[in-house]
Amino acid sequence: LVSLTDVSKHFRVRTSGNPFRASGILRAVDGVSLDIARGETFGLVGESGSGKSTLGRLAVRLSRPTSGTIDFDGRDITAVEGSALRRARRHMQVVFQDPMGSLDPKMRVGDIVGEPLRVFDGLRGSALEDRVADLLRAVGLDPGRARTRPRALSGGQRQRVGIARAVALSPQLILADEAVSALDVSVQAQIVNLLTELRDRLGLTYLFIAHGLPVVRQMAHRVGVMYLGRIVETAPVDALFERPSHPYTRALLGASP
Ligand code: ATP
Ligand code: MG
Repeated sequence: LVSLTDVSKHFRVRTSGNPFRASGILRAVDGVSLDIARGETFGLVGESGSGKSTLGRLAVRLSRPTSGTIDFDGRDITAVEGSALRRARRHMQVVFQDPMGSLDPKMRVGDIVGEPLRVFDGLRGSALEDRVADLLRAVGLDPGRARTRPRALSGGQRQRVGIARAVALSPQLILADEAVSALDVSVQAQIVNLLTELRDRLGLTYLFIAHGLPVVRQMAHRVGVMYLGRIVETAPVDALFERPSHPYTRALLGASP
């Protein structure tokens, strides 16, 4: 479904405190090739700063690569902009660690979930309200929640709202970037179950980034290990956890509880 070929993302960075080297190039993603099949959940793990989020943002074309190509559903979207980018992005949604963090706290849950339907599909009035109620039910929330504000919800409930919003436009690909990392373990399990159920019901494809290896093991079909901007090993989930071949993967598995 999504295919990255030799993709890199470089950032120009200031090297603070070093007057002799004012700036440099950081290779946050460095020549990565990756194919994610329709219906597949691809887990991406690796230490902080290894480039997981940068790669995820490229995969859903929230950012443009410095070099390399990105295909989505057979179309080259590497450099599309404007309405062509909006058309492609409709099929690629994102669930972040705190989906409410970037939204207006004065918005009600119903407006948050309904916004993409209003903006992209022009839904209004009771058609919009009915659709929002369906979406809230689909993520295990009482439709009456549409009138509450995010700060009145628990972390797990907020994440459900973020997921309802992400699936509102029936996307094909969902980038889940640390979508369960901030939740405690029992709530993590509930959200992982919800994501799995939606995957099976809606035929979703996930790029699933997470620090916690147990949730990746539970959720992913295949896992890539990132280290210094590169994917050093990719394997089916059981093979990766039972027979890691790259030394860095062994270190990562050994270091986790
Ligand atoms: P974490 O597990 O902490 O979320 P990550 O693997 O997601 O880490 P990224 O956020 O992709 O890592 O960052 C990779 C590198 O790129 C880091 O060194 C980061 O500081 C750098 N970086 C990311 N975005 C930018 C940017 N917009 N400008 C400059 N540097 C950036
Ligand atoms: Mg990250």
